[in-house]
Amino acid sequence: MEGVRSTCPYCGVGCGVVAKPDGTIVGDPDHPANFGRLCSKGSALLETLDTEGRLITPQIGGQNASWEDALDLVAGNFQAAIAEHGPDSVAFYVSGQLLTEDYYVANKLMKGFMGSANIDSNSRLCMASSVTGHRRAFGTDTVPGTYADLDEADLIVLVGSNLAWCHPVLYQRIAVEKERRPEMRVVNIDPRKTATCDLADQHLAIAPGADVALFNGLLARIASQGAVGWEYLSHVTGFGDTLEAARGDDLSVTGIDAFYNLWIGTKKVVTIYSQGVNQSSQGTDKVNAIINCHLATGRVGKPGMGPFSVTGQPNAMGGREVGGLANLLACHLDLENETHRESVQSFWGSSRMAGAPGLKAVELFEAVASGQIKALWIMSTNPAVSLPDARAVRDAIEACPFVVVSDIMAHTDTGDLADVLLPATGWGEKSGTVTNSDRTISRQRAFLEAPGEARADWKIICDVAAKMGWGDAFAYTNPAAIFKEHAALSGKAAALGKDFNISGFADMSDDAYEAFEPTRWPHTGTRKKERFFGDGKFFTADGKGRMIPVRQASVDHEAGSLRLNTGRIRDQWHTMTRTGKSAKLNQHMAEPFLEIHPEDALGSGLKTAGLASVKSDHGTAILRVLVTDRTPKGTVFVPIHWTARWASDARIDDLLGRAVDPISGQPDLKAGSVTLSPFEAVWFGFAISAHDFEPDTPYWAKAKTTNGYRAELAGTTPQVDWVAYAGSLFGLSDAEPISIADAGAGMARVVLAEDGVAKAALFVAKTPVELSRSHVLNAFEHGQIGHLLAGRAKGDQIDPGPTLCSCFNVGINTITIAIATQKLMDVEAIGAALQAGTNCGSCRPELRALLDHTQHKIAAE
Ligand code: SF4
Repeated sequence: MEGVRSTCPYCGVGCGVVAKPDGTIVGDPDHPANFGRLCSKGSALLETLDTEGRLITPQIGGQNASWEDALDLVAGNFQAAIAEHGPDSVAFYVSGQLLTEDYYVANKLMKGFMGSANIDSNSRLCMASSVTGHRRAFGTDTVPGTYADLDEADLIVLVGSNLAWCHPVLYQRIAVEKERRPEMRVVNIDPRKTATCDLADQHLAIAPGADVALFNGLLARIASQGAVGWEYLSHVTGFGDTLEAARGDDLSVTGIDAFYNLWIGTKKVVTIYSQGVNQSSQGTDKVNAIINCHLATGRVGKPGMGPFSVTGQPNAMGGREVGGLANLLACHLDLENETHRESVQSFWGSSRMAGAPGLKAVELFEAVASGQIKALWIMSTNPAVSLPDARAVRDAIEACPFVVVSDIMAHTDTGDLADVLLPATGWGEKSGTVTNSDRTISRQRAFLEAPGEARADWKIICDVAAKMGWGDAFAYTNPAAIFKEHAALSGKAAALGKDFNISGFADMSDDAYEAFEPTRWPHTGTRKKERFFGDGKFFTADGKGRMIPVRQASVDHEAGSLRLNTGRIRDQWHTMTRTGKSAKLNQHMAEPFLEIHPEDALGSGLKTAGLASVKSDHGTAILRVLVTDRTPKGTVFVPIHWTARWASDARIDDLLGRAVDPISGQPDLKAGSVTLSPFEAVWFGFAISAHDFEPDTPYWAKAKTTNGYRAELAGTTPQVDWVAYAGSLFGLSDAEPISIADAGAGMARVVLAEDGVAKAALFVAKTPVELSRSHVLNAFEHGQIGHLLAGRAKGDQIDPGPTLCSCFNVGINTITIAIATQKLMDVEAIGAALQAGTNCGSCRPELRALLDHTQHKIAAE
C-alpha cells in the first residue's frame, strides 16, 4: 500500500497505520499488531490533525518569545536551581506519548548530566505495578509473550481490563479467534459488567480489589489438585512460602469453582491484565499473584501461555526500555547497581550521574508542593488533571518557582500554569520509534509539516542540554542517531546480563532507520527469541524465577460513602486534547457521566438523566447520572477524560486521594470515596452553535459536532428573558431570534439566525431537557429551523437516536427498528443492513447487547 507508514498514537496495542497519498489514514495491513484493523479512535485520526488550538511559538509569561530567549531562560533556571539547591531540586515529568528517542535524551539529560533521577512519567499511573511485579518475579521488566499467544490460547482470562473499549483491536483479534474456534474460552474478571463481557463465556464479578485472594485461591487449588508443574518449578524459587501465604486467603463468589477448574484443566492459558490490576494500592501484589499461578504450572513464555500486561499508552514500553521512570536506568539496567551506573556513565561520558532512585509521580508533585523542586519541566502530559488529588497538584505547579511545559496545545490545564511554554511537534509531524505491549518496536513517521515554530521533543531537550554546556553529548542530528546510541547501550546492558538487547541496530544506516520494519526485541542481528522465560532462564541473581508470597489486603470500604471506580470510555483518549477535536468520537458519549446501581441511586435521591453533585475529601464534581446494574452496588464508575476545556466540573482526579502502591508508587485510581446528592438546578438546557462558546452556568459540558459545538447546561439562577440569555451565551445578541416559550412550564426554545441561517439554538426546561439530540443536530446541520424548534422528528421521519456506531453515524433507534422490522438475527446482519459495526468494529459488543435486548423485548411482547 502506498503512503507513509506510522503507528497509532493512542493505546499500547500499537497498531500500524498508513497515511495514504489521497489524504486518508487506514490500518496497515502488514503491521503485526493489527493486520489492517483499527478501532474507532484510530479510524478517526484524520479528524484530529487540524492545527486549531496548537501552540506554534515559544511563550514566556504568556507572551510570544523567540526560541533563543525561551531556551536561555529554561537552561538558566535549571542551572541556577542545581547550583544553589543541588541536583534533586529539579525534576522532569514526562509521558508515554513521547517517542523512544525523546524519552532517551530526557532520561540521559536528567540522570546522566543534571545528576538526579527525578524524572518520572505518566506511565507511573498506568503500569508501574506491572514493572515492579515483573522485576520481582523475573528479575527484569519483560512481557514474556506476544500477541500471537492470543491466537493460540485455549483460555483467555481478562483481569481488570475492559479490552473491548481500552484495547479494541486486541479484543477484536480474540473475537475473531473465538469465532474460528468456538471451543476457546474467555473469562472476564471485573466487578463491573463492561462491554468486554460480550465476548466472555464467564463473567466473574469479584469484589473490587479482591484479585489477590482470587489468584491465591487458584494457586491453592492448583496444589491441592496436583496440577503443579514440578519440572518447571526447578527453575523457580519460593513455591513453599507462596503456597502457604496463598492458603491463608479465601474468596467466595458465584462461579469461582468453575473458573478454577477451567484454568487448571486448560494448558494454554493467557491471563491479560491492565489498569484494574495495576491502579491499586496492592497493584504489585496483584501482578505477582497472577504470575505465581503461571510460574507454578510452567505456563509462561510458551506458545499460547503466560501472564500478559497490556499497556495503556503508545510508548509506555519504550519509556521503560530507556529507563524513563525514577527507579529505572536505561536498557533495563539497575539504578541501584553501582557497576550498572558506572557503565552507563562511562558510555554517556557524563560527569554527574544520579546515584539513587528519584521521586515517583505522586511524591514528585508533593516535593513540588513542599518547595523542594525549584525547576520543573513537564513534557507532553497534563498532570493538573490526570494525577490524583489534582487540585493540590495544580496548586503545587502554580506555586513552583519555575515551570516549563512542552506541549502541542496552547492551552491545557497544566500549560496554563507554566512560566515557559515550548511548542512541540505532534503525531504526524514527528519521527521516531515506539514499543507496544508485545515488545514490537515500530516507527512513527512524519507526513505533515510542523506548524509554526514547533520542534521535535528530542530537539528541544538537546537544545536545552547544549545551553547548559553539554552540547557534545547531545549533538544528535536526527532521531536515527539517538536510536543507534540507545541500541549500542543495550549491547553493553546485555553484556552485563540484561535481556533488553537491540544492539543489532547499533550500526544501522539512516536509510535503514527510515525503512525500519516493526521488530520485536530482542534484536541482536543473529539471534531470534520470540518469548522469554519458557526456557526457565530468568534475570535474577541466581537465574531463577521467583514466586512471591502475597496476601489479600482488606477490601472494606469507608462506611457512609460509595467507592469511586474510574476508567476510560470507548471513543476518548486521556484528557481529550486530541480526541476532543473529533466530532465523530464525540457522538458516542458527549458528556461526562456517573454510572450508579439502581439501589444506590435510590438511596442518594438520584434519577437517570439528572445531575449528581459528587463530593470527596479532595474535591467535587457534577456529573450526569446513568442508573445501571452494570456497576455493582456500593460502587460508582466515572470516566477520566473531561477537563476544564470540555466541562465545568468533571475533573475526576480532583476527587481522588494520593494512596499509592508502596512498591510501585502507582496511584490507587479505582478506590476513591465519594458521597452523592442531587445537583439542585432550577433550569436545564441543551445548546448548539456553529461557533465555539463559553457557557458560564454552574454546570456545562461541551462537545464538538460536525458543524460546531453542543453543550448540556444547568443553572441555579432563574432567567426571565431567554432570548437575551441566548444572545449573550452565544455572543449573537444582534442575531434574529425565533423562539417559542411557555413561561408557566419553564420551557423555552430559541433559534438565533443570521440571514435566515440558524447560527445557534438553546432549549430550556425545568427538568433535564427531553429532546432528541440526534434530530436537533441533524436539523441544525441542514438548516431546518422549523424542525429544530420542534425538537423531535415529525411524521414519517425517523429519529436515529443516540449514536452507537461512530464510523457510519448509526443511532440506536435506527438499529432497534431495523432489528425488529427486518428480523435481523446477528451483528453481521445488522452490518449488512446498516453498515454499523463493519468498519472499526469497536461498537460490536454494544450492537450485540442491543440485539439481545431488542430480541428479548420482542419475544416478551
Ligand atoms: Fe490505536 Fe485503537 Fe489500535 Fe489502540 S487499538 S493502537 S487506539 S487503533
